[in-house]
Amino acid sequence: MSFPSMGSADGRTLGEEELAGVARVLQSGMLSSVWGTEVKALEREMADLHGVAHAVAASSGTAALHLAVAAVAPDPGDEIITSPISDFGTVAPILAQNAVPVFADVDPYTGNLDPAAVAAAIGPRTKAILAVHLFGATADLRAVADDAGVPLIEDCAQAWLARYPDGTLAGTAGTIGCFSLQQWKHITCGDGGLTITDDPVLARRMRLFADKGWPRDGGRQHASLGMNYRMTELAGAVARAQLAKLPGVLADRRRTAARLHAALADLPGVRLPADVDAHAWWLFPIVLDPPLTNRAVAARLAAAGIPARAGYLEQPLHCAPVLTEAPVYGGTRYPLTAPPADKVPTYGPGLCPAAERLIDSTLLVVDWNERYTDDHVDEIAQAVRAAVTA
Ligand SMILES: *Cc1c(COP(=O)(O)O)cnc(C)c1O
Repeated sequence: MSFPSMGSADGRTLGEEELAGVARVLQSGMLSSVWGTEVKALEREMADLHGVAHAVAASSGTAALHLAVAAVAPDPGDEIITSPISDFGTVAPILAQNAVPVFADVDPYTGNLDPAAVAAAIGPRTKAILAVHLFGATADLRAVADDAGVPLIEDCAQAWLARYPDGTLAGTAGTIGCFSLQQWKHITCGDGGLTITDDPVLARRMRLFADKGWPRDGGRQHASLGMNYRMTELAGAVARAQLAKLPGVLADRRRTAARLHAALADLPGVRLPADVDAHAWWLFPIVLDPPLTNRAVAARLAAAGIPARAGYLEQPLHCAPVLTEAPVYGGTRYPLTAPPADKVPTYGPGLCPAAERLIDSTLLVVDWNERYTDDHVDEIAQAVRAAVTA
């Protein structure tokens, strides 16, 4: 059986609505969001969907995260606490603002930041917590951020419409929520990003940072540093059509994920995410108990034609060469130096043992898709059962 994939038309929800949006933009002759209407409408629709005051579009999820990090305004050498299991787009913006990424360890079953480890990592130079809702399960750092009095940035790239246990939508619990519209996310316009916030000051800072620090309402003056991270009208029109389909995408993913969840619930040696209906099911993660190993089980699943992989990452982010040894800016390791840091940060193996164990031996991820049928799910369930009991 072939499995629909986010990398091809059979596993995407791109259709007439997106085509109409692209045609509308081309026919208008206005492809830039500075003067166009699509991206402005997308921002309004995104804010309304989440019940927040502001949304700011960007050219990628990484750019959206960069807007958020820039908005919380770390001084060079200030620290931002984040997760060792994520896309590097979570970390790059921290370095780009000359701040120091501090990795706290994760829960051994969800792979999400462990609140106690984050609390222990808080220090005098902590400027923000950047939580990642891994695979679509919320990481709840609200209490830790509140206690420390620092802003909470939520990386929701994998967690569109995910919910906290109390029902709060991912991205609305913290100070700023960040989303990605890259090819391999729930909805896509190729590349794109969105941030949401209730704070008008942060929203304005983010808008300026995405547009060269140019206050379009105040003449051609550049009072603050900014990039050009603008989303184009073409991407915006596609993103609007995709956003309208998002609730359906989530409903379909949750329905089939619940089916696999039920089929595997009694299988010894496998641990599944807790709350099926709150999870966004970007991927379907399975954590194995020893002596099962992710590489052995993934190899059996691959042989059975199941789209599954061991570990999600090759190595946790705190072991990335750019952090452990390579130059960051020019030939230097700035800002991973003292100064601007108070002491040179250390990275590499041993720093986050739970994250390392997940990636090296216990975490398995099965690709998920809103176009899966019950037959797809049943085939995955059967293959996982066979691979785990082999
Ligand atoms: C995809 C992703 C990003 C980066 O988004 P891009 O749109 O690819 O730049 C950041 N964080 C997480 C958790 C992601 O999954």
